[in-house]
Amino acid sequence: MSSPLVDARRQLADAVKLLGLDRGTFDLLATPRRELTVCIPLRRDDGSVEIITGHRVQHNYSRGPAKGGLRYSPQVDLDEVRALAMWMTWKCALLDVPYGGAKGGVAIDPRHYSAAELERVTRRYTSEISPLIGPAHDIPAPDIGTDEQTMAWMMDTYSVGRGHTVLGVVTGKPISLGGSLGRATATSRGVVHVALEALRHLDLDPTRSSAAVQGFGKVGRGASRFLGDAGVTVRAVSDQYGGVQHADGLDVAALEAHVDATGSVVGFAGGEPIENDDLLELDVDLLVPAAVEGVIHSGNADRVRAQLVVEGANGPTTADADAVLAQRGVTVVPDILANAGGVIVSYFEWVQANQAYWWTEGEVEERLAARMTTAWEHVLEYARRADLTLRAAATSLAVKRVAQAHVQRGLYP
Ligand code: GLU
Repeated sequence: MSSPLVDARRQLADAVKLLGLDRGTFDLLATPRRELTVCIPLRRDDGSVEIITGHRVQHNYSRGPAKGGLRYSPQVDLDEVRALAMWMTWKCALLDVPYGGAKGGVAIDPRHYSAAELERVTRRYTSEISPLIGPAHDIPAPDIGTDEQTMAWMMDTYSVGRGHTVLGVVTGKPISLGGSLGRATATSRGVVHVALEALRHLDLDPTRSSAAVQGFGKVGRGASRFLGDAGVTVRAVSDQYGGVQHADGLDVAALEAHVDATGSVVGFAGGEPIENDDLLELDVDLLVPAAVEGVIHSGNADRVRAQLVVEGANGPTTADADAVLAQRGVTVVPDILANAGGVIVSYFEWVQANQAYWWTEGEVEERLAARMTTAWEHVLEYARRADLTLRAAATSLAVKRVAQAHVQRGLYP
């Protein structure tokens, strides 16, 4: 049975084998260092009480404080959070930001709760996990179902508990509250930086290439826009309600205006409807799955027609599907590289908050681009040298850095 955690451990096992590390190292890196499951009693607006479950998992902090997003989704369970936390450890190590990996999850569908209810859930969750978090311990950020408002409530709740304002406890905050310029678009920009590098690497001219993007949220929306800006024909996009396509390319700006007005890409007049599953199999050069885990699986991997898959989401390709794509010669730029722009600018935000000194948007963009390009080059070079897929190369580079930190620190006592 495939699941994010089974797949994450399989990727780790492959890297451990490739690097010639021992069984103890595998067990150490396969096991989260700290986990906390909390009960969040929520008073609904109608006065009734509902019990919601939340988790925070710190997979590893050998290279620095744990770092990773907080997800609000009805599918959240502890194993999913464990997998996402492990991927954060590799992502931070690969991009050489001085963090370990963590993730949080609250099993709630935010669409069915009022803003006041979500504020109460967020504050109670923050209070329950406050022994674990802090600028030097573990720094949450937005993920699926959470946003800068969620981060503002978390920062406020934590700060009230400490008696002073602690800007560095979360990232992805509103600009007016210590957020960084460029954070909101960072993941999308990073996805497009590596997508353009990868297209060129495959000898595909971006201005003659086509793309399909699954997901039109924090990652997919900006990715569609920046791909369009780079001259790529965005043929299809989708969200959780459905998709739209146009053979000659969608007008992304007009589509964004439609989404702002209606809340979904569905019903956009400048295109035809397309099912989410069909979008993944569209005849395009580039496929960007930027929604949820496991959408490319053993049941559809042989029907993916794109030459290049750039993973905007975390874990969109199952391990079985990954093997099928590799065998079919499809290039997959893995999540821990492709979507790292978010945590890179989170790192910049935390640095700025700690120094109380703010950078210009230009500085943020320039440093983000430099880090993405450097990581892409390292992964590509290693993959070529060792004859590996980009995922195997990226995971191995990251695991090597984390394992090395463990060796250098030694075991206590
Ligand atoms: N949730 C994002 C991710 O999966 C960002 C994490 C962060 O900025 O800490 O990479």
